[in-house]
Amino acid sequence: MSNEKTVAFIGLGAMGWGIAANLAAAAARGDVASPVTVWNRTSAKAERHAAAFGTRCARTLSDVSRADVIITCLPTSAEVAAIVAKMAPELKAGSLWIDCTSGDPNTTRETARALERVGVTMVDSPVSGGPDGAKTGELTAMVGGDANRRAHPVISRFAKKRIVHCGPIGSGHAVKAVNNCLNATHLIVGGEALIALAKWGVQPEIALNAINASSGRSLQTEVRLPEEVLSRKFDYGFKLGLMLKDVRVAVDGLLSAEESCREGSILPLVKRLLEKSTDEQGYDADYTRVVRTLELSAGIELHQGAATTEHA
Ligand code: NDP
Repeated sequence: MSNEKTVAFIGLGAMGWGIAANLAAAAARGDVASPVTVWNRTSAKAERHAAAFGTRCARTLSDVSRADVIITCLPTSAEVAAIVAKMAPELKAGSLWIDCTSGDPNTTRETARALERVGVTMVDSPVSGGPDGAKTGELTAMVGGDANRRAHPVISRFAKKRIVHCGPIGSGHAVKAVNNCLNATHLIVGGEALIALAKWGVQPEIALNAINASSGRSLQTEVRLPEEVLSRKFDYGFKLGLMLKDVRVAVDGLLSAEESCREGSILPLVKRLLEKSTDEQGYDADYTRVVRTLELSAGIELHQGAATTEHA
C-alpha cells in the first residue's frame, strides 16, 4: 500500500501506455487511493488513454506539476531533463520523481541534483519486458537511488515480474543499458548464425529447433528470431533508434571508462552494426530489423521453414 496521494504519468508511448493503464487499474481496484493523471506531448493520445482506462487527461504540464509522484517514460534522458527544467519551478517539495525511461546514468545524476534543489527526490526505474509486458504489468524494474523503498509500492503496480535495487541514482539506467547490449548482441549473433547455416543448407526453423534444446539458446533464438524475423513481422514494438541509444550509453559511456575491459570487446562492433542498420532502416523501424541488415549484406532472406537467396 502506498501513501502517495496523487500520481502523474508523462509519456504514453509503446511502454508508457500500458504502465499508466496498470497504475490506473490498481487505483480502480481500490489497492491504492491514488488517482492517475496522464500527460502526453500529442494530447489526443492522453484523451484516448483517459477514455480507455479512466485516467485523468492533463492539458498542460502545469496540470501535473503538483502530484505526489511523477513518472516519466520518454525516449531519452534529454527529454526527461527538458521536462524537469520546465516543471521545476512548479513542483511540490517532498514529491517523488520516478523515471522509467531507459536513460543515461550521468545525465540522470545531474537531473536528480536539479530536482533535489527544489526538494524533489528522484529514482531511476527503467523497465524490461516490452509493450506486452507493460500491458500485463509483468515488467522487470531496475531501480537506482536511495528512495527505492519509498518508490517500491508504486513500481510494484507495473513491475510484477521483478524489482531489483541496483545501487545509487543512475545505476538502474547503467544496468538497463548493459542489458540491452546483451539483448542486441544475442539477436545479432543469432541472426548471423542462422544466415551461416542457411547458406550451408540448413533450414532456419530446423536449426532453431536443435539450438533451442541446446546450450546456444537465448531469448532471441527462442522467441524473437522465430516470432519477428522468420515470420517476417518485424513488429516487436521497440524502435531501432532507441536500441542504438541504449547501446551507445553502454559502449560510449560505461565501457570507455578507464577501468573497463575495452580490449577484445565485441560490443563496439554491435554498436557499429546498429548504427548502419538505423541509417538503412530508419530510427522508427523495429529493432529486430537489425537482422534485415545482416540479410541484405549476405544476400539471403530467412523465412519460416526456408531461406531464399536474394542475389545470384
Ligand atoms: P515511443 O517512441 O513509443 O514513445 C515515446 C513517448 O515519448 C511518446 O509518448 C512521445 O510522445 C513522448 N515524447 C517523445 N519526444 C518527446 C518530447 N520531446 N517531449 C515530450 N514527450 C516526448 O517509445 P517507447 O515507449 O517504446 O520507449 C520509451 C522508453 O522506454 C525509451 O527510453 C525506451 O528505450 C524504453 N523501453 C522501450 C521498450 C519497448 O519495447 N518499446 C522496452 C523497455 C524500455 P508523442 O506521443 O507525442 O510522440
